[in-house]
Amino acid sequence: MSQDIIDFADAKARLGDHIVRGTAAGGYIRAVAITARKTVQTARSNHNSSPLVTAALGRLMMGGQMMGVLGKNEGELVTLIVRGDGPIGGLTVTANNKGQVKGYAIHPNVWLPLNSKSKLDVGTGIGRGTLTVVHDQPGFEPYSSQVELASGEIGDDLTYYFAVSDQIPTSVGVGVLVDIDTSVRQAGGFIVQLMPGYGDELAAKLEDNLKGITSVTDMLEEGLSPNDMLLRVLDGLDYQELEAVPAEFRCGCNEGRAKRVVLALGRAELEDMIQKHEPAETTCAFCGKTYVFSPDQLQELLDQSEAAGRSVEAAPTLDDMSAMGMETD
Ligand SMILES: [Zn+2]
Repeated sequence: MSQDIIDFADAKARLGDHIVRGTAAGGYIRAVAITARKTVQTARSNHNSSPLVTAALGRLMMGGQMMGVLGKNEGELVTLIVRGDGPIGGLTVTANNKGQVKGYAIHPNVWLPLNSKSKLDVGTGIGRGTLTVVHDQPGFEPYSSQVELASGEIGDDLTYYFAVSDQIPTSVGVGVLVDIDTSVRQAGGFIVQLMPGYGDELAAKLEDNLKGITSVTDMLEEGLSPNDMLLRVLDGLDYQELEAVPAEFRCGCNEGRAKRVVLALGRAELEDMIQKHEPAETTCAFCGKTYVFSPDQLQELLDQSEAAGRSVEAAPTLDDMSAMGMETD
């Protein structure tokens, strides 16, 4: 009888970008996979990024989205910060456990020749550097760990991070296929982890399966869904799907946050702008949205702060807009 009941929320989650989470080998494997063409395309549009940077940022964003869903902790945010000596400079991504992500590149418009495999050369674009992962859960102190980049190709770097920082043998595949018109044609990935107590035979079988996988984008081009990808990666290992979650690019910036950034300029600076009839402007690093405050609005902001008894002092950093917070109003 239960098969007559359609789970609309579940069906809807599988229509577009989504993440599936599952388990295999009697719980000794946990797995997650994503398809996120629209999510990565939104990042591309927000930042007007080159194909190389779209691929780099897309890979890290999907890694963050999958880590967020793997974490399962209510309200937890995962922030991934890549800093490298290559021309892209670095990437910053924040994801929650609901499949929502935002991200930006320091230099979004880098073009490089294709690498020896005729692929976008993300490794050279990022260069040598570090990956920092920050876990931020309400009610707990944020904690972070940092590893050296393995190759700058993002998938390898995340694999290395899990091995060193979490000491969990993990395979991460992330791929973005950019079309000839620079739009995103395919984007997806998977993370498969061996849980403590796994046997050698299981590890060998999984390794064998992974050898048969050419790339995530090949699987997506074949028309595989995230669940299909996990069925292939975990072939013969009794894979069970646990849930499907919609995935999207979502920035939590809003006018309130923009006001705090503007106020951080300090009273003296703001009064100077009001005097000169200059508006104040701030642009969100994650989504590119610009907030403009007219001199009248600036005066109002100062008056309100005064009425509330808050001092308006210049803050050392104006980075509030790119702070980790991701309000989901
Ligand atoms: Zn924003």
